[in-house]
Amino acid sequence: MRDNAAPNAVAARWHNAGLPHLPKQYEPMSAALRPNPAHACRESCGACCIAPSISSAIPGMPDGKPAGVRCVQLGADLRCAIFGDARRPACCSGLQPSESMCGGTRAYALAWLTQLEIDTQPERA
Ligand code: SF4
Ligand code: SF4
Repeated sequence: MRDNAAPNAVAARWHNAGLPHLPKQYEPMSAALRPNPAHACRESCGACCIAPSISSAIPGMPDGKPAGVRCVQLGADLRCAIFGDARRPACCSGLQPSESMCGGTRAYALAWLTQLEIDTQPERA
């Protein structure tokens, strides 16, 4: 069936559905959907405040947090409640958004960060 929606809308819909490849006819437009290398943090994501473990103390989580657990400082709006506060862990302040980590969707970022956590687990003897 032919999709009569504007091509960019079709591409965006395909992308948001988490499907791996754009239909052939839309491939030239896929570049426009790829995150910019100078990637900005996405609204309503918060993946990097959930998926990774953090060993430093966080206000409300004195022992840090395990992987996959939502940080208590992550607000309902998915923003850090202690942004700019000296008590915010250095690892949070130092983390930069990137195309490889953030990808195009929250689901992508959660999966990527979860895999990173698995890949960087110390080997158990
Ligand atoms: S994973 Fe990337 S886009 Fe999502 S909250 Fe973290 S920095 Fe922002
Ligand atoms: S302290 Fe803020 S930036 Fe760090 S994990 Fe918690 S909510 Fe995210």
